[in-house]
Amino acid sequence: MIIGCHVNFTNEQLLGSVRQALSYGANTFMFYTGAPQNTIRKNLEENLIKEAHQLMQDNGIDIKNVVCHAPYIINLANNKDPEKWQFSIQFLKQELERCKTLGISSIVVHPGSAVGLEKNIALQNISDALNLIIREDLPMILLETMAGKGTECGCTLEEIKTILDQVHSNHIGVCIDTCHLNDAGYNIEQFDELLIQIEKTFGLEKVHCVHVNDSKNTLGSHKDRHENLGLGTIGFNALLHVVLHDKLKNVPKILETPYIEREYPPYKFEIEALKNRKQNPNLIEDIKNFYK
Ligand code: FE
Ligand code: FE
Ligand code: ZN
Repeated sequence: MIIGCHVNFTNEQLLGSVRQALSYGANTFMFYTGAPQNTIRKNLEENLIKEAHQLMQDNGIDIKNVVCHAPYIINLANNKDPEKWQFSIQFLKQELERCKTLGISSIVVHPGSAVGLEKNIALQNISDALNLIIREDLPMILLETMAGKGTECGCTLEEIKTILDQVHSNHIGVCIDTCHLNDAGYNIEQFDELLIQIEKTFGLEKVHCVHVNDSKNTLGSHKDRHENLGLGTIGFNALLHVVLHDKLKNVPKILETPYIEREYPPYKFEIEALKNRKQNPNLIEDIKNFYK
C-alpha cells in the first residue's frame, strides 16, 4: 500500500515534510512548495534537500511516489487577460524547476476554470498552455479530476481526455480525486466500472496519483468539500476498495481530508484504519485524545 497525505512545507522545507509524513506512518506524501493560495516562494536550501533525501531513504520512502501540488490560483484555462495567463504558465514552469531541484518527479495541477469562456475554448487554452510548459526533462504534470464547482474544467473523464488529446506530448498524467469524482457524479461505490470507463477514455496507464477523500456532499453535487474517511457520503469501505485495488497498486494514494476542529491532523489514524482494513468507529475521539 503506497499511502500518505498532504503535509506542510515550512522552515525545514522538504525535510520537514518528510518528518511530518513519517509521524503519520505514511510511506509517501504530497506538499505545496509554499502557501497553496499564493505564489510567494522561498529559495530552496540544498542541505535540507540532502537531509530530506537521506531521511526518505532511511525510512523506505521512495521519492518516485512523492508528489507536489501546484497552487490553486494558477489558471491555465482562461486567457482573456493574456498577462494573467502568461503568469500562470511562467509560474508553473518555475514550480517544475523547483520540483526538479527537490528531486520530485510529478506535480498535480488543477486544469483551471473557464470563467466566461466556452468550455471547448477553455479546454484548448489548457492544452495550449501545457504545450508551452511540458518538457521531458522536467517533472510530469498530473491533471486532477475536478468536482465541477463553478466553471471548473476537467470534471468529466471526457474533458480530461480532450485536454490530453490536444497536448503534443506523452509526458503528462492524471490524478483522480475520489471526492471530486463523487461530486462530479461518478459513483465510487462502483469503482470497478469507473476504472473500466477510465480505461475506455484516457487510459488507466495515465493515472499516476489518487487523492483519497470522503465527501461532505452527495453524488453529482458539484461542491468539492472533503470529509474524513468513513464520515462522508462515499464511506470507508468504498474508499478502502479504491486504496486496495489491484489495478492501482503501484499508484500513490494521498489523503487530503480535513483536520478535526481545524486543529488536529487525522492522517495517522486514517492511515492506520486503512492498513487495518477496518473503519475506526472512534476516529474523532482517538485523534483528539492523541493530540491534546
Ligand atoms: Fe487538488
Ligand atoms: Fe485533490
Ligand atoms: Zn478538492
